[in-house]
Amino acid sequence: MPALTSAETSELVTLSRDIHAHPELAYQERHAAGSIAVLLERHGHTVERGIGELETALRARVGPKGGPAVALLAEYDALPDVGHGCGHNLIAISNVGAFLVAAAQASRLEVGVELIGTPAEESGGGKIDLLRKGVFDKIVAVLSSHPASGEWAVSGTGLGAVGKRVTFTGVASHAGAAPEKGRNALNAVIRLFVGVDGWRQQLEGDARVHGVITDGGKAMNVVPARAEAIFGLRAKERATLDGMVERFGEIAQGAALLTGTSVEVSEYLPYYAPVKANMPLGDVISEELGRLGMSPVRGVLVAASTDLGNVSQRIPTDWVRFPVSEALIAGHSDAMREASVTELANRNALIAAEALGAAAVRVATDKALRERIAK
Ligand SMILES: [Zn+2]
Ligand SMILES: [Zn+2]
Repeated sequence: MPALTSAETSELVTLSRDIHAHPELAYQERHAAGSIAVLLERHGHTVERGIGELETALRARVGPKGGPAVALLAEYDALPDVGHGCGHNLIAISNVGAFLVAAAQASRLEVGVELIGTPAEESGGGKIDLLRKGVFDKIVAVLSSHPASGEWAVSGTGLGAVGKRVTFTGVASHAGAAPEKGRNALNAVIRLFVGVDGWRQQLEGDARVHGVITDGGKAMNVVPARAEAIFGLRAKERATLDGMVERFGEIAQGAALLTGTSVEVSEYLPYYAPVKANMPLGDVISEELGRLGMSPVRGVLVAASTDLGNVSQRIPTDWVRFPVSEALIAGHSDAMREASVTELANRNALIAAEALGAAAVRVATDKALRERIAK
């Protein structure tokens, strides 16, 4: 199994550092998508940009033209304030690297291997857009990766999640001269947070509710007529989550009632389904990691959510979680951002690349395996 050449390795590390140094938010990943495309084109691949009507989505393919394919999914969006605190620069290079590994064996492939660049994992759900646009219609297996700390893992599952935007509307008034004429929308947001904190005691252990205030008024001497917060709600089971969404709406209504304001709850993030890992596919990734000296754990629950989950509910999917640090550090943090550009991080991302590339080749060259995966 030919590994990545040292020239490819250094190109990929350069790409990782470049994306890390230019954090871009969901759907705006022009620098990252452009840099990935340039690297692939330098290796002689044709890159389709803007697939599925998303400007920063892209696709390249090796093996038979048209027809079924194994997909490797690269993410590259960052977070507000913490930048690449989720290490998506490493998801990018591990999947681009895997694609280069598969490309080196293109003539053997019975079905295609595609690299799909999927924007907006952190906010919006680019993979959900691409699913709707049919980009995954001919995909028979999906492979991807995510950095973390601690152990190597394969076949991890996660929580389903939705995002809600809550907007309260009150009445503006002079906070000193005529407070009695106002209706304070910020007070409603504060009561919503207090209500959620009380409700949390009655939630299941793996359920999550968390939010930030995105509009708390503009001037201290004006009673805020508008205030807004965005919330994430998460649970393992869809039914639990649906019940939580209903209860959350009631708490928001309660906050409005308490403050004499009106409330509107709207969708901020579509439903991110929990990842459904495909065991035969996970076996292949695990075996390939084993060959490279790693011993991944299987099936851990990660209390996070990803639009890879929506893909996994439709198409056989599995993924590798690789460590960027041995010590446990929180995701979406400054520490994670710093760890996502270290030598260890890049080295492990490249090990993930080789394992995913080898796994993609095995799936694309073994009909019986494809049938087991499809079951
Ligand atoms: Zn993240
Ligand atoms: Zn992430």
